[in-house]
Amino acid sequence: MKLSKKLTLSFVLVILFSIFIISLISNTMISNRFDTYLIEEQEKRFEIIRKDINNLFIERNRNLTNDDIASYADREGIYIEIRDLNNNMVCHSNNHSRGLRYGIMGHMKRHHRMMGHNLDNRGNYIEKTFPLISDDREAATLVIGYIDNSHLTESALIFKNTLYRSFIISGLITTLFGVMISVLLARGLSRPLLNITNTANEIRKGNMQSRVLIRSNTKEIVELSNSINYLGEALEKQENLRKRYASDIAHELRTPLTTLKSHVEAMIDRVWKPDEENLNILLAEIHELNKLVDDLKNSFQTLEGQMNMNKTLFDISSEIKDIISTFKPIFEKNRYALEYAIEKNIEITMDRDRFRQIIYNLLSNSIKYLDDNGKVFVSLDRVDDNIRITIEDNGVGIEKKDLPLIFERFYRSDTSRNRKTGGTGLGLSITKTLIEAHKGSIFVDSTLGKGTKFTILLPIDTSNY
Ligand code: ADP
Repeated sequence: MKLSKKLTLSFVLVILFSIFIISLISNTMISNRFDTYLIEEQEKRFEIIRKDINNLFIERNRNLTNDDIASYADREGIYIEIRDLNNNMVCHSNNHSRGLRYGIMGHMKRHHRMMGHNLDNRGNYIEKTFPLISDDREAATLVIGYIDNSHLTESALIFKNTLYRSFIISGLITTLFGVMISVLLARGLSRPLLNITNTANEIRKGNMQSRVLIRSNTKEIVELSNSINYLGEALEKQENLRKRYASDIAHELRTPLTTLKSHVEAMIDRVWKPDEENLNILLAEIHELNKLVDDLKNSFQTLEGQMNMNKTLFDISSEIKDIISTFKPIFEKNRYALEYAIEKNIEITMDRDRFRQIIYNLLSNSIKYLDDNGKVFVSLDRVDDNIRITIEDNGVGIEKKDLPLIFERFYRSDTSRNRKTGGTGLGLSITKTLIEAHKGSIFVDSTLGKGTKFTILLPIDTSNY
């Protein structure tokens, strides 16, 4: 069953049930209370009649005739009888009890026909006795006969009927409104859901640009549509990245493979001698290829979270000094300066080899982009629960537009391509992933022509991550 139908049906059922219960309870309670009120009024009336007849009884020296009481009986629509203390009839209103009964019922029937009711409940004839008092003693008995539902006068019945009708009318109007509101509400909920489902299906079919375009003020629906849009964007990005990686990898592999192919072909054609020198050139190309494949493997492994970490506690201050000393000869050879300020005896728990790889990548990069009078400055200190490492060079710098992109796979700025640094554009992406795998972060700050500064923050204890 459709959600909108289900919602509408549930709303309508709840509305109908509520109206039924409210009408039933209010109608019964009001009606009962009204009946009690009418009966109380009738009893007050009987008491007044009793007093009046008692006064007349005393006035007429206990000698009342039929005519004396007939006017009361007529006026009140009741039967009156007076009996002496031996229970013998003294007088009675001329209307016989049966006649009285049918007279009253005839009157009630006329009324109900007028209101459109088919009421055949004739009611029961009831007699009530009251003492007539003279000289402070009971002197006779007054019998009042009436139909037990005679308290339901014409106006009382009209009132009850109006009440009953007003419940039915208000019930109908409320149901009508309820149905209208339920339909609107159900549509308001189901339409955006349908829209979201359609978008999700489009994305599933491969239409990655499809987005949910709905305006809703229901928080959950807005959140759901945002999530679907976010999912669509993420999938679109992934798809684009996948395509870009595929073409980048193909491109990176093609250059060394073409060189290898042309060299080997030249050897087959005997244009190139397969001597040691030439074979070493081929070997260097194969090394390059190997390195590229390793880098690729590393980069995708870290991306998929398959990195096996071997975390140990070690002195990062001496570790970083060690790495710097291995770089010293290359710097000296190029007449570059390598300076440092290392805070002593800082210990950290992390994967030592990965740490070496991080610093190695950043120092190799800085060398690649140095010019004459090149200088690199390395620092290490502790900030709260983190260690901070900076690697700063006075090299070519990075253009502002390139800064957000340098940590992406295969990204190389024009400067680096022009300088033919031989990079693959994977180094920084691997570095960043390794740092993030230790819950650290890396920032870059650079001015074109002036130099670049990388800052790394790593939590001292990464063993829990
Ligand atoms: P590559 O193998 O090309 O060095 P990286 O991922 O290590 O790849 O670096 C990406 C790009 O960031 C480089 O191509 C270069 O343009 C820029 N870059 C990285 N380090 C520096 C630096 N120290 N100075 C200037 N540019 C840098």
